[in-house]
Amino acid sequence: MAEPRNRCLSPQEISRRLERHGVQPTAQRIAICQYVLCEAEHPTADDIKQWADKNFPKMSRATVYNTVNTLIEAGLLREFRFPHDSKTVYDDNISDHYHFLDETTGEIIDIDGKDIEIKLRNEQRFIVKNAEVLLRGKLVKKKGV
Ligand SMILES: [Zn+2]
Repeated sequence: MAEPRNRCLSPQEISRRLERHGVQPTAQRIAICQYVLCEAEHPTADDIKQWADKNFPKMSRATVYNTVNTLIEAGLLREFRFPHDSKTVYDDNISDHYHFLDETTGEIIDIDGKDIEIKLRNEQRFIVKNAEVLLRGKLVKKKGV
């Protein structure tokens, strides 16, 4: 079962979540998690590094990238590459979902997997395990507004 996406986890909650996923909760990992699991929305590696430079100037590039890779291996973060951009983005939403690109702002918004149905008609040759969909357009209404 997917864990709920909490926008503002406390350091204790992050620490517990890391432990549940078999990751030793070091201060640096907790700090990076605060950003990638709570504050950021589909950040790139550059976004994460810039955030770390601003908030933890002593943190090395290697620490930042190693932590991101550790989080991916632990199943807390996923990597996505979209056709409109060569950069990899990191996503703390690990449930099945699709993406919507607001072409005006470049914002990437999650769309729940339940809200899109992709089905092959009259085609029995494939067993589809996973689909990656990027819808593009203009965001006209924010969620819950
Ligand atoms: Zn996403």
